[in-house]
Amino acid sequence: MIDTLPIAIVSRLIEESLDAVVVVDDDGAIRYLNCAMQGLCGFAPGEAIGQPLAGLLPESFSNHHGASFSTLLEKAYAADLLGGAREFVIRHRTGEMIPVEMKALDLGVVGTVRYFGAFIADLRQRRQAEAKNAALLAQLERQAMSDTLTGLPNRRAYEAEAGRMLARARRSGAPITVGIADIDHFKKVNDEHGHAVGDEVLSAVSAVIAQAARSSDYVARVGGEEFGLLFPDAMPETARAVAERMRRAVADFPVSTSTGVALTITISIGLAQLEGGLSESLSHADHALYDAKNSGRNQVKQAGRSAT
Ligand code: GH3
Ligand code: MG
Ligand code: MG
Repeated sequence: MIDTLPIAIVSRLIEESLDAVVVVDDDGAIRYLNCAMQGLCGFAPGEAIGQPLAGLLPESFSNHHGASFSTLLEKAYAADLLGGAREFVIRHRTGEMIPVEMKALDLGVVGTVRYFGAFIADLRQRRQAEAKNAALLAQLERQAMSDTLTGLPNRRAYEAEAGRMLARARRSGAPITVGIADIDHFKKVNDEHGHAVGDEVLSAVSAVIAQAARSSDYVARVGGEEFGLLFPDAMPETARAVAERMRRAVADFPVSTSTGVALTITISIGLAQLEGGLSESLSHADHALYDAKNSGRNQVKQAGRSAT
């Protein structure tokens, strides 16, 4: 039992507790604050004792609940604030709002005065750690959706975006075209110039393709030297015109490599309307790509259309 302890020991426990401790009376006047509480609110005992607790609360809170402590108390009871742990904010003398966890209790009546006490823990470090974790998680999510070599979205991101576009198109009825762009004879680039130069070519070509796209189009690296394309709100003719622009831009833009050679690269593109599911439409685009490769490469073919 604590009352078997010398009172000095109990006092010291409260006084030196790392959690802040504050005691108020039923008028809402501060009657006690320990060292940690002084640090948390920035007031020395001489400045705080006898002052209203409302001075340590956010103005909005005090205004909202009215100046009277009894109103505040009623709200505290109603909100089940007493007896449990609640997240809360206190106002430092500098005006800084400090997130805290407060465990408040009704300490009962002694003489004619009712006392309320609270243990208050500073949550700033926890909040900072949470914000850091959230930022790291967002970064990981971004990384999981993007290709490190080219910086383009990866296949996962492509599939997710296609799903979103499909859902929108089902509502609006607007047509979407999907495409696959594939670098021609890329194996030869690797074989003749090495894998590192192959990587440089991949990066350069991906930038050119992305540059030639409309702002609403979506370009992703979905495989080794393959790029997934999405053309929303595009009639097949429009998508074809953009794909042609991509093809021409790559062919017209020799890639200068770090080894000092300039390589002329071409791509072939297969297109198909996004109808039904993505994988079905992509396999139509893949057939069109196969057609483009068989017809001599460096060209755009559209599924279900005669070659032009
Ligand atoms: P086609 O015109 O028929 O498409 O011929 P291709 O040589 O481009 O096609 P193939 O599928 O035979 O070869 C693709 C090559 O792409 C083989 C592979 O080593 C290379 N490749 C895939 N990913 C990467 C990469 O990240 N970096 C490099 N440097 N090469 C890659
Ligand atoms: Mg390929
Ligand atoms: Mg290829």
